[in-house]
Amino acid sequence: MNPLANNPPSPEELQKKLSEFLKQQFGDRAVFVSAMQPQADQAESDEPGEAAEEKPLAFDFNFKPKDIKAHLDRFVIRQDEAKKVLSIAVCDHYNHVKLAEAGKAVGDYQKQNVILIGPTGVGKTYLIKCIAQLIGVPFVKGDATKFSETGYVGGDVEDLVRELVQKADGNVKLAQYGIIYIDEVDKISTPANIIGRDVSGRGVQSNLLKLMEETEVPLRSPTDLTSQIQAAMEYQRHGKIKRPTINTRHILFIVSGAFDKLEDVVRARMRDAQIGFGAKIRGEIPRADLLRHATTEDFIKFGFEPEFIGRLPVRVVCDELTEDDLFAILKSSEGSVIHQYEQSFRAFGIDVLFSDDGLRALAKLAAAEKTGARALVTVCERVLREFKFQLPSSNIHRFVVTPELVNDPHRELQRILSDAQSEERIVAQRLVAQWAERFGQKHDFVLRFEPPAVEAIVDRALATRKPVREICEELLKDFEFGLKLVKKNSGQREFALPMAAVEDPEKFLSELVVRSYRADAER
Ligand code: ADP
Repeated sequence: MNPLANNPPSPEELQKKLSEFLKQQFGDRAVFVSAMQPQADQAESDEPGEAAEEKPLAFDFNFKPKDIKAHLDRFVIRQDEAKKVLSIAVCDHYNHVKLAEAGKAVGDYQKQNVILIGPTGVGKTYLIKCIAQLIGVPFVKGDATKFSETGYVGGDVEDLVRELVQKADGNVKLAQYGIIYIDEVDKISTPANIIGRDVSGRGVQSNLLKLMEETEVPLRSPTDLTSQIQAAMEYQRHGKIKRPTINTRHILFIVSGAFDKLEDVVRARMRDAQIGFGAKIRGEIPRADLLRHATTEDFIKFGFEPEFIGRLPVRVVCDELTEDDLFAILKSSEGSVIHQYEQSFRAFGIDVLFSDDGLRALAKLAAAEKTGARALVTVCERVLREFKFQLPSSNIHRFVVTPELVNDPHRELQRILSDAQSEERIVAQRLVAQWAERFGQKHDFVLRFEPPAVEAIVDRALATRKPVREICEELLKDFEFGLKLVKKNSGQREFALPMAAVEDPEKFLSELVVRSYRADAER
C-alpha cells in the first residue's frame, strides 16, 4: 500500500521538509534553492500544462459514421452492430465537441458515453483502439476492479485522465478530447439483494460519474512524489504554485464488461411480463439477444446506481466469436497475429506461409480455449515457439504452416529439419563431384571419388560446417604433385579415389606413387 495514500504532503510541506533535511545533513553548506535550481528549470519546461499552451489544437473531426465503420471493418471481424452504434456515437460526440469549442452548441447535450457488453476477447478494446487511432485522439484503458472508493489501492480513477495527457505527449488540449475505456465495470455493481450493499463499488461508481459528467482533474497526482517535488521547486522560485488541471467535459467514456448475471435479470423480467400477460414462456432466447433487451431498470437491478447508468446512454452488445470468426480474423484482419509471425521469421531470412487449412487448425485450437481471439495469440505462440528457436540457426528458408504442423509441431519440425539435411546432403554430394571434375580438368586427368569416399567427405562438411571445397583441398593438397608423378611414371590418367584416400590420403598417395615406379620399371 502506498504510504502516501490517505494523507499526501502538500508541495509547501514537502519544500519545508526538504529544506530542513538539507540543513540537518549539511548545515550551511547546502542551500535548498541552489542545489535544486537546474532541475526546477527542467521540471518547468516539462510541465505538461504549460507545454500544451504553445501547441496548436491538433485535432479536427470530419468523419461520417460510414467512414468509421469502413475503417473498423479492415481490422475487426464481426461485431457489426457494435461497429455501427460506436461509429454513430463517436461522430455525435466529436461533432458536438467541435460545435462547443466554436461556441455554437445549443441546448442541453447528453454525452454519448457507451456501455459495451460482451465476453472477453471479442474485440471490445480493439474497436475502441482502432477508433481512437483513426480520429487521432489519445486512448487509455483501465480496469474498474483496480479502483477503490477513496482512491488509492491499485489506482485512482483520476489517474486515467492524467494518463491521457501522457499518451498525448503532454498536450493537455488534445487529451481533453481523448477516450477513456474502463473494463470490468460489471464488477463494481452493488446488487441490492446482497446483505449490506458493497459500498465501495458504489463509491467507485460515483467517482466515475463525476469524471463522466464534468470535473477538473489536477495534472499533478497528489501521490506522485516527483510532481510534488516539482511543485515545491516552483513554490521556492516564484512564491506561488500553479495547479494545472484538465477538464473531463469532452472526454468520451466507454465502459465494458461481460455482465454475466445481467442475463438472469433480463430473463426474470421477461418471464414475469409474459406471466403477467398470461403468455407461455417460449423457448430459450440466446444470451446476446437477452442482453440486447436490457433496460435501464435491469441495469439498476443488476447493481448500478441510476445516475451512473443514466450517464451511459449508448448500449451495445458484442457477439461471441465462433471458430469461423477466428479463422476470418487470422486470414483477413489487418491486425492478424500471423503478420507478426511473418515479420519475425522474415528478419531471419525465413518465409513462412500459412495455408488456409493451417489457419483453420489454429482457429479450432483457439476456439477450444474459450477466450475469444485472445487465444489466437496463445495458440500461435505455442505452435510456433520451437520453430522460432530452431529455424533461424538452420538452413531452412521457407516452410508452410499446415494442419499437420499445427497439430504436431514437434514432429513436423523434426521432419522439416531432417528433410533440410537430406537436401543439404544432396547439394554437398554434387559439390564433391564437381570439385573432383574441376581438379582433374585443371591438371589434365580424370578424377572422381568412389561413393563411400563422397559420403565421408559430405559427413565431414556437414559436421564441421566447412565448405566442401575447403575440405577437398585440405585432403588432396599433395595430390596435384603426386598424381602428376603417377601419370608420368605409369601413364595412368584416370583415378577413382576410394574411401582409403579420404581416411589416410598421405598413405594412399605414397602407395600409389610407389606402385607407379614399379610399373615404370617393369615397362
Ligand atoms: P476484449 O473484448 O476482451 O476487449 P480485445 O479487443 O482486447 O478483447 O481482443 C484481444 C485481441 O484479439 C485484439 O487485440 C485483437 O488482436 C484480437 N481480436 C479480438 N476480437 C477481434 C475481432 N472481432 N476481430 C479481429 N481481431 C480481434
